[in-house]
Amino acid sequence: MMELSRVNCGYEAANCYCIKYSDTECLLVDPGDRADRVLAYLEQKSLKLTHILLTHGHFDHTGACKELREETGCKIAIGKGNEIMLRDPDYAGVTFFRLPNPQRYLFEPDMIVDDGDVLEFGELKIKVIGASGHTAGDVCYLVDDILITGDVLFEGNCGRCDLPGGSWERMQKSLAKLKALPGDYKVLSGHGPDTTLDRERKYNPYMK
Ligand SMILES: [Zn+2]
Repeated sequence: MMELSRVNCGYEAANCYCIKYSDTECLLVDPGDRADRVLAYLEQKSLKLTHILLTHGHFDHTGACKELREETGCKIAIGKGNEIMLRDPDYAGVTFFRLPNPQRYLFEPDMIVDDGDVLEFGELKIKVIGASGHTAGDVCYLVDDILITGDVLFEGNCGRCDLPGGSWERMQKSLAKLKALPGDYKVLSGHGPDTTLDRERKYNPYMK
């Protein structure tokens, strides 16, 4: 049975999620910082980290990836078109925010995921939804009744489109695509509180 929990490891309160998909295995979405805290969490829960799924390649979502892969041997996946974010400090946001140690945010992914892919982890299936606009290759992840939206959709807001690879036009299309998903989902964003898709359909000015 799938269990999802938030791991407190974020840089400036970026959200990292742990999805436990078997008795002993889990994956992480967007471990943005503090690999030490993530490793302590995994140890405390007796979980093996097998995969990291990234919604996109900004530093505040990727900062712990390199160290976690070194420590656990996990595989790292990112959306098609986003590879450049793991190779170029300008795209990673490292240059813009003048971060020290840029190499920490630069690495090669193990897997590229694309719109419509269904990823299987044991019994668990995760659907990939392409939703670029915040960057050139954002993806959202659909897990059971949960939609993980990265920096595409926030409670009452959407992600900025003015950084390298961003596009307001594509963002609008992506928001329309999420809005058109059948039914309601619990929405877990890259920053800020949880919400639901119905709530955002109703009240989010960018989704109306
Ligand atoms: Zn971002």
